[in-house]
Amino acid sequence: MTTRKFPQKAPLQEIDIVRRENHTEDLALMWLEKPDGYTFKPGQYCTIGHDGIERAYSIASAPHEEFIELFIELIPVEEGGVLTPILWDLGKGDKVTIRPRAKGIFTFKEEMENQFLVSTVTGVVPYVSFIRDYLRKNRSGHHFYVLEGASYTDEFVYDKEFETLSVLNPSLVTFVPTISRPNEDRNSTWSRDTGRVNNIVRDKLDQFNLTTADTMIYACGHPGMIEDVKEKVTGDGYEFLEERFWKDD
Ligand SMILES: Cc1cc2nc3c(=O)[nH]c(=O)nc-3n(C[C@H](O)[C@H](O)[C@H](O)COP(=O)(O)OP(=O)(O)OC[C@H]3O[C@@H](n4cnc5c(N)ncnc54)[C@H](O)[C@@H]3O)c2cc1C
Repeated sequence: MTTRKFPQKAPLQEIDIVRRENHTEDLALMWLEKPDGYTFKPGQYCTIGHDGIERAYSIASAPHEEFIELFIELIPVEEGGVLTPILWDLGKGDKVTIRPRAKGIFTFKEEMENQFLVSTVTGVVPYVSFIRDYLRKNRSGHHFYVLEGASYTDEFVYDKEFETLSVLNPSLVTFVPTISRPNEDRNSTWSRDTGRVNNIVRDKLDQFNLTTADTMIYACGHPGMIEDVKEKVTGDGYEFLEERFWKDD
């Protein structure tokens, strides 16, 4: 009798949380140990777990970096959160699991000169990786327009990194943060764009003269935002790529 060989499933690996930075009550950055040989493309996600519960997280760091950097939003138990309330109690020295391979097709499409990157809060993560990798490789010829929507100014988290890049290299990065609740006290010092990010997309494409021939549009994060951006831009003939972090109810 012949024994049939099935491909062996690579085992889950336990890795350390090496650092954690809290930004608001429900937003944190976490840096994880990178397993030997772990590779990924900018824009891909890893699968992280604890107590057998696993979820997908896009990777903010670029492949050359020592650690895997994640930007995570807490979904409280009352709102259905399962893994994030567990992660919220973890910090430096605690362990999580990681699946052996990164996945996803929400990656840098270099064919178009203009990269129009639309996000809500944690949805900015893949773009952080795109741009860090691009800089690391010393590439040129593309312009990254990073549009990020949030309710409050302290939810941007990567704003200083994008602002600095846009000042040092204005032909490479344009950063457009916009807040949807300009009248709340928490946003009292805000003097930039206001409104939901999906509602400023059309104006910004016009303002920056971005045409269908030379622009790739990405949308990542809130499914409602993605749906609206998709409807607005694909009708006009723009190339469009999306990554939904959760499903609309
Ligand atoms: C490809 C991919 C990449 C992802 N990358 C990230 C990332 O970089 N950072 C991140 O924080 N999350 C990311 N997510 C979402 C993540 O996988 C989890 O769903 C999220 O962390 C909540 O986990 P949970 O177990 O606590 O709740 P879940 O059991 O996953 O979800 C509970 C409920 O909350 C909803 N939900 C999930 N996330 C949100 C949210 N952000 N806002 C509002 N409602 C939500 C779900 O639809 C569900 O109804 C990604 C998801 C996918 C598919």
